[in-house]
Amino acid sequence: MAGSKAVAGDAPRRADLDKCVHCGLCMNACPTYRELHLEMDSPRGRIYQMVQVSSGAPITDSYREHIDLCLACRACETACPSGVKYGRLVEAARADIENRSERSFGSQILRTAVFDYLLPNRALLSVAGAALHLYRVSGLQRAVRATGILGARLGEIERLAPEAEMPFFNRNIGRVFPPTAERKYRVAFLAGCIANISFARLNEATVRVLQANGCEVSIPEDQTCCGALHVHAGLRETARLLARRNIDALVDGGFDAIITNAAGCGSTLKEYDELLEDDERAKRFSGLVRDVNEFLASIGSNPPMREVRATVTYQDSCHLAHGQRVRRAPRELLKRVPGLIVKEMQTPDLCCGSAGIYNVVHTGMSMALLEKKMQAINATGADRIVTANPGCMLQLRAGVARHGHNQRVSHVVEILDEAYSAS
Ligand code: SF4
Ligand code: SF4
Repeated sequence: MAGSKAVAGDAPRRADLDKCVHCGLCMNACPTYRELHLEMDSPRGRIYQMVQVSSGAPITDSYREHIDLCLACRACETACPSGVKYGRLVEAARADIENRSERSFGSQILRTAVFDYLLPNRALLSVAGAALHLYRVSGLQRAVRATGILGARLGEIERLAPEAEMPFFNRNIGRVFPPTAERKYRVAFLAGCIANISFARLNEATVRVLQANGCEVSIPEDQTCCGALHVHAGLRETARLLARRNIDALVDGGFDAIITNAAGCGSTLKEYDELLEDDERAKRFSGLVRDVNEFLASIGSNPPMREVRATVTYQDSCHLAHGQRVRRAPRELLKRVPGLIVKEMQTPDLCCGSAGIYNVVHTGMSMALLEKKMQAINATGADRIVTANPGCMLQLRAGVARHGHNQRVSHVVEILDEAYSAS
């Protein structure tokens, strides 16, 4: 796949920047500002820097670092009374940086390999997943961890890497699953990229839950990675190529909805119309996208359920709560499960520090946020942590290993799957 660059024109727009009246009401919602108490690492400070660059100031290392340290969690967007579209601004700022900066040869090769070749290619992802699986089952992972051969930094990244779940979900791509209850809807499931390897069981549970709710679930062959990681990295042109592939694969399928179980993907899929401005098919596509929680809550999900005896606490995924403004649906679904006790944590919509590949790139900040998140979770006494995004699940599992009390981390859909399974 060609085109790992952003294109000229991908930069914060003056009209978007001018909406900010610098009131500062977003500051306390910002995880990086809460940690560092630095204006330049707050939403208002970042917007101020974007205005400077937009007015002709050069892109400096300092600007790059402050924009890069942003989690793109969009909590500031929720907090802002002036309707500043911060997510759009930071994505455009990153594209502008990408477009106007030179990267080292090594960095460029790595980004091209990951963003252009690995993520959009199911066969390559399967090979990488098989290698990851072999690394674990061969005992090599244990040996590497025991010897500490990777050193502190690489060792930390290695521990945060997702595991491969055999068999991969890829074998289901191209299939159609009939409903297991009275037929009501025809939906398409976008299975993700890494999720097909590392969250294969979650994807299977998602299909079962939709089937149990009267859905025929189609998993179209020609779908590809949604491009969310590309958008966050400033690679908007590559994201546009992926968006067009997904639109071609799905938009004319006559589906009632296009479903995703990943909040980060859902947020980008719902914004394909912004990514591909003035594209009627992109608008139609975005209008069909539903997060699985949102969809199930909207259809009054009501298959018979058995008790699930657990106390859970729900962590809002930033791209569901702030990006898509979906907060009530997952909580409603959890409340419907008999036997389940739901306890709210303090600041459930404050970022856990996952943010795509942020935890690998800015591990220090990410782990500081995770530690605080785990304190809030531990205080609830819940024995399970529930969320709505595979990336958050990985981060929270790392949080449990470091600071937790052996809590199990699940997606909302996995709880529903359990409730339906023995009924
Ligand atoms: S982004 Fe919104 S809340 Fe934050 S300073 Fe600007 S106008 Fe105020
Ligand atoms: S997106 Fe999140 S980290 Fe970035 S400025 Fe807004 S609140 Fe802060």
